[in-house]
Amino acid sequence: MFNPEIIKKQEPYEAQESCLSLQGYPKKTKRYKSIKVRWQNKNFEWRVKKFTGWTAQIIQHEIDHCDGILI
Ligand SMILES: [Zn+2]
Repeated sequence: MFNPEIIKKQEPYEAQESCLSLQGYPKKTKRYKSIKVRWQNKNFEWRVKKFTGWTAQIIQHEIDHCDGILI
């Protein structure tokens, strides 16, 4: 995913998350069970898809990193 952007979020919940790049205990953070993401693929073509559950949580975590946010 290049230039990913979350364009829709549904069903917020409180998650306990850690980061493989950091030391320390899991921390609380707000995530959404369902998200719609827009991004460019390796050919820089725009794609849009809905993600749910664990996959959606990971995408939210990684997009936070793109925005300079560490858990
Ligand atoms: Zn991380």
